Amino acid sequence: MLDSPFRLRLPPVFSVLRVCRNNTCASSALPESSFSAWSRGDLEEGIRLAEAAVRTEPDCAGNCEALARAWYAALLVRVRRLSSAALILAEVDELSARSDADGGTAVVSLLGAADLAFARGDTSAAVDLAARGADRARRAGLHGFLPDAHTVLALSALRQGDMSVSAQFADQLRDYALLGRTAHGPSQCAWAAAQLLEVRGGPASAAQLIAGIATDDRLLLELLTSQPTAAAWLVRATRKLGDEVLARRVVAGAGALAVRNPELCSVGAAAGHAAGLLDGDPDGVLAAAAAHQDPWAAASAAEDAGKFLAARPAERQRAVEAFESAADGYAGAGAPWDARRVASRLRALGVRRGRHPQYAGRSGPDAGTLTNTEAAVAELVSQGFTNSQVGERLFISGHTVAFHLKKIFRKMDVASRVELTRAWSRVPGASREGARAS
Ligand SMILES: [Zn+2]
Repeated sequence: MLDSPFRLRLPPVFSVLRVCRNNTCASSALPESSFSAWSRGDLEEGIRLAEAAVRTEPDCAGNCEALARAWYAALLVRVRRLSSAALILAEVDELSARSDADGGTAVVSLLGAADLAFARGDTSAAVDLAARGADRARRAGLHGFLPDAHTVLALSALRQGDMSVSAQFADQLRDYALLGRTAHGPSQCAWAAAQLLEVRGGPASAAQLIAGIATDDRLLLELLTSQPTAAAWLVRATRKLGDEVLARRVVAGAGALAVRNPELCSVGAAAGHAAGLLDGDPDGVLAAAAAHQDPWAAASAAEDAGKFLAARPAERQRAVEAFESAADGYAGAGAPWDARRVASRLRALGVRRGRHPQYAGRSGPDAGTLTNTEAAVAELVSQGFTNSQVGERLFISGHTVAFHLKKIFRKMDVASRVELTRAWSRVPGASREGARAS
């Protein structure tokens, strides 16, 4: 941890929004305590304190109400509790419409919504919101927000396969991270830059940044607490560089975070994914795919499992299933570039996908976006079958059923089998579709 080139500071929402700083104002004090807890890896405590700040009746004329909400929403997005985050962000938006003298609340509202859209897999909306947020920040002289906005723009471009845009951002984000130009979160800029550099010039061109993140305890913690896809990415990247020690370090860091925060599924899934990758364990990685709260992360876990399975001739069918899940997952997560890569993995196994998945971002419950397999799973689950019974009928494993089910829940916007059964009964012709699809 000696001589880290990165500096960690309070996120811009703390320094830019005009808050009262009264010792008596809980709306301003609790978010800062939450930031401290979060930064040392006590994520559940961080969320609890952030929520308490939002529940507190504001007792001052400052912008503290907006700060409390923006911070809580940011944490909810990080742990992928996306519906709750959307509700809180709507309140921030309302506050910005009511009183926003310096324009800070509007910027916070737009960038929070951009993060949410990205997490949800709607990269088109994420680009639009981040560009508007960056524009407003620039016009209001709030340059501290630009690294965050550019990170979302760059990563969205990468997922969409817009390589010229993502290449433009690579050097800029690296400079933000290394020159201390981020108002906070240098790890996220560094990680985004590493991804872009790797795509542009191979793993070696990102080696310095990757090692910079993985060897710095504080930076690694900051990244693992903000990005559920980071642990697995770092394990893949450090392995490509042939650095097993760094890969183990990342897995240990992610594992420790999961042990400390047992109630956060997103953190557990990230740790399981990273550990499964390190051990070359396809079932561990598939379990992580089912547990991931982030659609892109779930797809990447399915792809990783597929790679392990494809290396074993006897597991060819499971490899195909995993890759098909990954291709659907990426397509639904606004990541056509990744979906195309998986399609070529499937071709290598002799499988051509007959029907191109929809690449547009998802919005709202819509049974029309379910794949044939998902529709069949939804139908059988609605009839009351267990995962293993569904698997027997569709000739797929229970793991794969769980993975499909997770995507069905997301697409149908339901949280349980009971809710799914209810929603499914309202889909016209769903039953017949599902029965035919197997
Ligand atoms: Zn206050």
